[in-house]
Amino acid sequence: MYLEKYNLTNRVAVVTGGGRNIGLACVQALSEAGARVIIAEIDPDSAEAGRLQMKEAGYDVDVVSMDVTDPNGVTESAAAIASKYGRIDILVCNAGIAFNTPAEDVSDEEWNKVIDINLNWVYWCCRAFGKYMLAAGKGSIVNIGSMSGVISNKPQPQSHYNTSKAAVHMLTKSLAGEWSGRGVRINAVAPTYIETEMTRKGMENAAWYKTWLEMTPMNRVGQPDEIGSVVLFLASDASSLMTGSIVLADGGYTVW
Ligand code: NDP
Repeated sequence: MYLEKYNLTNRVAVVTGGGRNIGLACVQALSEAGARVIIAEIDPDSAEAGRLQMKEAGYDVDVVSMDVTDPNGVTESAAAIASKYGRIDILVCNAGIAFNTPAEDVSDEEWNKVIDINLNWVYWCCRAFGKYMLAAGKGSIVNIGSMSGVISNKPQPQSHYNTSKAAVHMLTKSLAGEWSGRGVRINAVAPTYIETEMTRKGMENAAWYKTWLEMTPMNRVGQPDEIGSVVLFLASDASSLMTGSIVLADGGYTVW
């Protein structure tokens, strides 16, 4: 009875930025549970690399290109996916970027880029794909937030990133309030530092890395699969009573 709740057979799932790292871990987790997974990426090479990696692991996933800078492009991609597959059950909003710039030096361009990709685009995706879920009366959305939406990181400066992730958490709660009575659940995962391209520079900085570990009760960073498994839980019926939750997967970082 309990394991069956994780069974995603016949469900269609879309993972944005699913070509690598945390996104690809989500793709694999959902595929292993039986979902038909579509990687939505702006970069066709990254999407194709992810698809091939999944093929080697034994999973057939599809790819669509999605222009994240254009709300109409997102709407068109959602319509194309709904028309091709006949349903959209799961959406994972994963794509994101980060810069480490002191707040007083952040340019308008950099600020807007982070807010556009990390926040506006998440909203556009939720709105575009959510419409199909609302029409069907069911669906599960998982946004990738961050512990940086809960605390302010140390020692690296990243005010725009932190702000964007806090807003993603509030967007998640707001949409949950509006949509959960109509069958669509929406939750967020808030990871600690995960070993990916995004954190590699920080991990190579001995002083930063030391601080990160000292501030983490588990004394380590996480791996993408440790987020993939949380996303699988939130996407599946195993979390059927959860909506508007911001699930910390942070090695204990926020307990101090
Ligand atoms: P990566 O940098 O490895 O991957 C980011 C993904 O986002 C890639 O698939 C990338 O696509 C996509 N992306 C990047 N820039 C753009 C853009 N301009 N337009 C569209 N898509 C873009 O990051 P992670 O796997 O580490 O991060 C995934 C998510 O997890 C992000 O939202 C991040 O903020 C969040 N997160 C990460 C943490 C970490 O420590 N790594 C901690 C907490 C949250 P492409 O390959 O095509 O460039």
